[in-house]
Amino acid sequence: MEILLTPQILGMLIDQGYTYALARSELYTDDGFETIRLSPMKEKPQLPELPNGYQTFYKLTHEPLQMLSSGENTRLLVDMEPQIDLFSTDCDDRYFRYSEAFFEQVLESIQDYAVYTTTRNGEINSWNSGAEHLFNYAKYEILGLGCSILFTNEDKSNKLPQFLLETALQNGKVITEEFHCCKDGTLFWAKSIVFPLFDEQNRHQGFTHIIHNLEEKKKSQNNAIEAMSLASNIIETSKEPVVILNQNLSIKKANKSFYELFQLNEEESSEKNFYTLTPGLDQKHLEHLFNEILPQQHDCKNFELRYMSPSGKSRILVIHAKRAISALDNCIVDILSIEDITDERTLQQEKDDFISIATHELKTPITVIKASAQVLQRVNIEGASPMVKKYLQKIEEQAEKLIQLAALLLDVSHIRSDKLALNFEEFDLSELVAETVEDFRMLQKKHDIKIEELCACTVNADKVKITQVLTNLLSNAIKYSPETNSIIVRVFPDPISQTVTVSVQDFGIGIPFEEQNKIFKRFSRTNLVGEKNISGSGLGLYISAEIVRKHKGQIWFESEQNKGAKFFFSIPAK
Ligand code: ADP
Repeated sequence: MEILLTPQILGMLIDQGYTYALARSELYTDDGFETIRLSPMKEKPQLPELPNGYQTFYKLTHEPLQMLSSGENTRLLVDMEPQIDLFSTDCDDRYFRYSEAFFEQVLESIQDYAVYTTTRNGEINSWNSGAEHLFNYAKYEILGLGCSILFTNEDKSNKLPQFLLETALQNGKVITEEFHCCKDGTLFWAKSIVFPLFDEQNRHQGFTHIIHNLEEKKKSQNNAIEAMSLASNIIETSKEPVVILNQNLSIKKANKSFYELFQLNEEESSEKNFYTLTPGLDQKHLEHLFNEILPQQHDCKNFELRYMSPSGKSRILVIHAKRAISALDNCIVDILSIEDITDERTLQQEKDDFISIATHELKTPITVIKASAQVLQRVNIEGASPMVKKYLQKIEEQAEKLIQLAALLLDVSHIRSDKLALNFEEFDLSELVAETVEDFRMLQKKHDIKIEELCACTVNADKVKITQVLTNLLSNAIKYSPETNSIIVRVFPDPISQTVTVSVQDFGIGIPFEEQNKIFKRFSRTNLVGEKNISGSGLGLYISAEIVRKHKGQIWFESEQNKGAKFFFSIPAK
């Protein structure tokens, strides 16, 4: 028995383990067709000798349409030897292979694609729900209409629909991208594939059309192009050197400032490796950035690095880097923005040196002034008026303030040059807190300082420096609650983190929410304290935070404007 080779038959043969087919062709029979007769085989036919009458053999693959449409006037027949029983599989799926209802179900389930068929003249005769969804035409509205209704007026007048059908028939299929038109006239960009359909006698009966909406894809591509061009412009206009590197560290894009910084020629640099282009950079350090930080964190800020310029000048660079995926080609890229902070650092260093020298120089004269005022007060000056005594007292007080300020400035300069030294010793923090609170109670009477919780807890810390932190928090609590008088102190351990926390709470002016993030920065003070005319240097919390950090501890606060502030610091317990 011979049957026409259809894609389904081919599929079944392959499913049954047929891998090759012997072929003999009969040139132009009466009906004008070249007939190729195939005899399916499970083994590869052995050359040179093929069984009688067979001229060649083919490998069976799942590409039926190509095979079937390989020649316009070719008919492929399969020799169905008695042993070939296409329906003998364990699972009898004849129904599924041949049932029209089944194919309809398959077509209906394809929601993302519009699939419809047309007659030879292009009249629509089947329409799946994907097509309904995409074009907004119900089946009953569209069946019988020419498929040109789905094209733009321009394409219609250019006879594109007919051209596509003719080309599909000629070439076996045609794949194009063009605008399609919905029922309400809106257009969308789509990919369309048109196949000719043949009946069992290989007579051309119509076409299958498969339409895929590319609008989303196109939109996201357009967005990506737009974003890239925007990014490109931003990079170009950025004053900071910026470079985008491919995964092999060649330059994908860089701005003028980048080429200027490294004294590179743009044309000669393309495709070259970043390490080769920048030999003056500390490469070991850079490897750490590219091989460890970026693969793990994808983001890196303030990565400091030394650079020796070709003219032999040493520079300090700071890199902010990000690993990203390029939306256009889906490739991983590293974006580096580079800041040359050499001048800023030098200036900062000069400023720090100045503060350090000036403070040192001021310390001795102020101490002498204070001591002299004290001596003069103690000596019973004959006939000295109360006014003289009053002013001597003022001199002593103000000299003391200056001594404290000088001490703060010295601390700052030690912190800046990383020379803040700590002397660790073991002591009970609760005792230290109790003593310090007691000193405060003696010094001032206005505020009532209560210790509400005091758990004994040994720490290994610098007693003097921790006293300094505590003193700062207590004096702030007093200073910034001029209209209330209650201050609450607590010392409590946290067994889980093995730390001990000290808190100092007041009910004063508080810290406005919008200014809370700057409180631990150098010289920072809230506007509120300016308005209320409360003096201060803005250095105490900065120094306290550094001291706590050096103890591997933490410092934080909770505050609401006009409701007070509660400062905490915690350090490891012994
Ligand atoms: P100073 O008190 O000398 O200004 P600090 O570094 O100790 O410097 O404090 C910085 C700023 O934080 C203060 O100027 C003030 O604005 C705010 N601040 C600190 N403690 C309190 C507090 N308990 N209540 C309200 N504001 C505070």
